[in-house]
Amino acid sequence: MPSHPRLSIVVPFFNESLNVGHFFDRLLPVLASQDLSWEIICVNDGSRDDTLDRLIEAHRHEPRIKVLDLSRNFGKEQALSAGLSNARGDAVIPMDADLQHPPELIPQFLEKWREGYDVVYAIRRQRTGQSLLSRAQAKAFYWLFDKLSDVPLPREVGDFRLLDRKVVDVINAMPERTRFMKGIFAWVGFRQVGIPYEQEERLYGESKWGMMKLMSFAFDGLVAFSDYPLRIWAVVGSVISGFAFLYIVIRLIKTLVYGIDVPGYESIIVIMLFLGGVQLITLGIIGHYLGRVFNEVKGRPLFIIRSRIGLGDDAEGPGQ
Ligand code: UDP
Ligand code: MG
Repeated sequence: MPSHPRLSIVVPFFNESLNVGHFFDRLLPVLASQDLSWEIICVNDGSRDDTLDRLIEAHRHEPRIKVLDLSRNFGKEQALSAGLSNARGDAVIPMDADLQHPPELIPQFLEKWREGYDVVYAIRRQRTGQSLLSRAQAKAFYWLFDKLSDVPLPREVGDFRLLDRKVVDVINAMPERTRFMKGIFAWVGFRQVGIPYEQEERLYGESKWGMMKLMSFAFDGLVAFSDYPLRIWAVVGSVISGFAFLYIVIRLIKTLVYGIDVPGYESIIVIMLFLGGVQLITLGIIGHYLGRVFNEVKGRPLFIIRSRIGLGDDAEGPGQ
């Protein structure tokens, strides 16, 4: 066997105890049917159930299943980054542990990769188990993202994809701490192609993405890929100043012609409240970017690895 595998599968696990067995049951036959060397890098993202034990158990049966145990729950994007930076394959496929990403698609990924594509992504044909509201939100997000940033995000595309080694190296070298993977994958460019698939329901457990978490994720993504929200206020300010100037002229003429009239309480209150609101929104947006700069400047590591099992130094057995 060559010193490094041809294909690395990277899977983040957070409280996926019930899914672990089923996941490998479906993935391993697909890999076995392919004539190439492989490894599966399982990133345990601080699970609080027995996911880690099950992963170690799987590693005992199949040493090509390797485990990266993070020191706490860092979030899916960070877990993926940890996996990507430890994968050694010529091609890397990140996928979810809940079987929403059908392993049966992997042979098609490999086929396109051999044709010379650097990124092969899977396009969801339908979103199962999603309400009308969340579908509308997703649509609004993509629309806004396309308007505000200069990297168009492919629609209905998640993290399930194949990345060539050169793309993985570029992503690993990116220093930014805000890992909006969807955006990063699109931003790097290279020769990309999509394959449609039907997304299945999550096998066990619930999605870890609540409404609030999803909205903050979307906002973070926008902020990471566009400075438009910062710059728009210059335009808003100019327009408001323009109106204010017009109003000043009107008031002056009116005063000169008709003399001073006292009423005007409503207009003053309305204008003050409106401008106060605009200023607070602006401050909030600037604050968000400032917070982002603060996070980047601190330069803390993206993730902390507690132990590696089957990877690197302690290649044999579970090193606790
Ligand atoms: N995940 C993770 N850390 C987290 C949340 C999720 O590693 O903090 C993993 C999770 O175990 C799964 C994948 O990310 O393998 C996708 O999570 P989920 O199914 O909850 O997201 P959805 O499919 O709803 O987007
Ligand atoms: Mg899922």
